[in-house]
Amino acid sequence: MKQNLYNKVFDRHVVSRLSSGQYQVLIGLHLVHEVTSPQAFALLRERRLKVRFPNRSFATVDHIIPTDSKERHRPLQDSLAEEMLQAIEKNTKDFGVSYFGPESGKQGIVHVIGPELGLTQPGMTIACGDSHTSTHGAFGSLAFGIGTSQVADILATQTMSLGRLKVRKIQVDGKLSPGVYAKDVILAIIRKLGVNGGVGYAYEYCGEVISNFSMEERMTLCNMSIEGGARIGYVNPDETTFEYLKGRPYSPQGADWDKAVEYWRSIASDADATFDDVVTLDGSSLAPHVTWGITPGQSVAVDENIPTVASFSESEKPLIREALEYMDLQDGQKIEGLPVNVVFIGSCTNGRISDFQEAARVVKGHKVAPGVKALVVPGSEAVDKAAKALGLHEVFREAGFEWREPGCSMCLAMNPDKLKGREICASTSNRNFKGRQGSPAGRTLLMSPIMAAAAAVTGKVSDARKVFGLK
Ligand code: SF4
Repeated sequence: MKQNLYNKVFDRHVVSRLSSGQYQVLIGLHLVHEVTSPQAFALLRERRLKVRFPNRSFATVDHIIPTDSKERHRPLQDSLAEEMLQAIEKNTKDFGVSYFGPESGKQGIVHVIGPELGLTQPGMTIACGDSHTSTHGAFGSLAFGIGTSQVADILATQTMSLGRLKVRKIQVDGKLSPGVYAKDVILAIIRKLGVNGGVGYAYEYCGEVISNFSMEERMTLCNMSIEGGARIGYVNPDETTFEYLKGRPYSPQGADWDKAVEYWRSIASDADATFDDVVTLDGSSLAPHVTWGITPGQSVAVDENIPTVASFSESEKPLIREALEYMDLQDGQKIEGLPVNVVFIGSCTNGRISDFQEAARVVKGHKVAPGVKALVVPGSEAVDKAAKALGLHEVFREAGFEWREPGCSMCLAMNPDKLKGREICASTSNRNFKGRQGSPAGRTLLMSPIMAAAAAVTGKVSDARKVFGLK
């Protein structure tokens, strides 16, 4: 039978069938960060276990690290953050795991550094104690977000138990209009299929729009698979993938490169592979999207109105009312024109060099609106360096943005970057849950980098196509 990538890669990594009906699966790459690893390393110490394959785990620090250079010196002002930083430094040293700390040139958000170092490769099984590990599926890998106990399993055995998923092919046809990006595509997909629509599934993204995406756009897309309920998301590897990976520090070199590319081609879904479900979208008809509610599925195109409660089923209405009340919005109101207090461009969804290039291109010559706090936070030290080499930091600074040091920043606010009170934030991150950005009453509107740039310069939700004359 012709197979899809998910089943080919899964089958090749099965070690054994478990009595539970699940499978023990070999994990090729384990990415580690400071939040979910301390308890796992403690468990290893308690059981007197070693890390089974230290060369298959790589660690960095992202969630708790301050992004203001004045707050980055040691010891960190936040004693809990300092404790976590010291813990990952000690744990990785004691167990022989590579650690990319601040000033190493390789520190950054775990889902940004894996690909840019060439650690993330097609056909791999990848795990990390973070929900947005699905990002790495952009390379044609099976990439799972896991919990602390599974982090310990992988450190000790390099395997974890997994059930087999169903696979839904999501085909996005046509060509995107100017001003429409991967972020808009994934918000539209989640809006269409719902935040639980992908439960039990792997999402395979394909079609003309996806084939034309750069690797960074594919990462944005796959990053938010988890927000649609899918366990993982992936794109079949192709020439764009190979071109991105060639010459990266951990990519195969010389003859190994040719062998690797041959293998990577072989694991792509067969032309007539079967799927458990197929969904199609017309990319040509998409407009920039903005979330209005408290889940990533509650979005509208920027030129649409917020839906009316009456348009939902009885079972859906309570969540819609809860979202409107929390966001202090009326159903049927326009989203365009809603004032914003803070703008955040960054995160593992949209904190890569192409995100900043696009945003800087439109921001040039504009000024951040009075009273708006606007942050640009590179996803990694490498992104920071590349952006500075292009002068992007100066473009943003001249416009009135703050250019920060690499980290998760305001995506999750486990660091000093937090909303205050009822502030509304135009954010390029991936979650708009209640209180996600640090204030229990803070409000998040998810959007693409150029939509966030448009919000920054107008002080309100705006159609970037109109603000910047994109045609
Ligand atoms: S940027 Fe946000 S979603 Fe991504 S790893 Fe950091 S906290 Fe998690």
